Amino acid sequence: MKDVVLAKSAGFCFGVKRAVDMVYEQIKKGGNIYTYGPIIHNETVVEDLSAKGVRIIDGLDDIKDHDPGTVIIRSHGVEQAVYAELERCGMKIVDATCPFVLKIHSIVYEKSKEGKQIVIIGNADHPEVQGIMGWCETPAAVIDTEEKAHEFKTDKESIHIVSQTTFQYNKFKQLVEILLHKGYNNNISNTICNATEVRQKETREIAKEADAMIVIGGKKSSNTGKLYEISCQECPNTFHIGGVDELDMELLKGAERIGITAGASTPNNIIQEVYTSVRREF
Ligand code: SF4
Repeated sequence: MKDVVLAKSAGFCFGVKRAVDMVYEQIKKGGNIYTYGPIIHNETVVEDLSAKGVRIIDGLDDIKDHDPGTVIIRSHGVEQAVYAELERCGMKIVDATCPFVLKIHSIVYEKSKEGKQIVIIGNADHPEVQGIMGWCETPAAVIDTEEKAHEFKTDKESIHIVSQTTFQYNKFKQLVEILLHKGYNNNISNTICNATEVRQKETREIAKEADAMIVIGGKKSSNTGKLYEISCQECPNTFHIGGVDELDMELLKGAERIGITAGASTPNNIIQEVYTSVRREF
């Protein structure tokens, strides 16, 4: 019998669970229900919500094309302009922005108003980062590579650094280190979410000891992608799957110890299905 280890931190974090629960609560109340973007990066959940009549608003320009109803803002949060446009179009807002993300919004809003250059360590294409940028009173710099950190310059004296909540901690430290040598007045808010850090550390620990690793989560989920990256560093035999249907048991046959982890947007039933199937097979 093989050793199968399931990460304790696998699956929904507090913010995502809260957001998903809020959508299901609104469904019970009835009426037109929308989410601003897919509520989470998980196809199964999004399909279930769609079957229950929840529609997705695709962006700022798309708001006016929908009948008034209730719009749930997902845990990633949105820029200030979105609240204004939703109100203008007569939408009721249910704000499921994770409190940890709201905290970043208020930091960048205050600090940019004080005249500091905001630097976001994160991926400029990620909706959470776009939301954060939308709370800065002056344009923020977004940095996710050493090259960009070396190239960074501003005419402001002080910079205030924040991070995308799901950014990898070691990489954050590395990029901050480069910025610290540039001679600005530096202020740093490490806004990496603890849930992410715990999940990443546990993934690394399990992967170190494993002969094969399964990382469960949507293909578009950035935090799942990061878990996959970390796991590959410790265990090249790592497989990223969306659910049990994508699991090829043949590939696990040679492994004595199998680790399983999952991104923040992976529902518990999907994790349990994978875990039980692996257990049953071996
Ligand atoms: S990862 Fe952290 S910050 Fe992001 S939604 Fe979950 S609890 Fe909130």
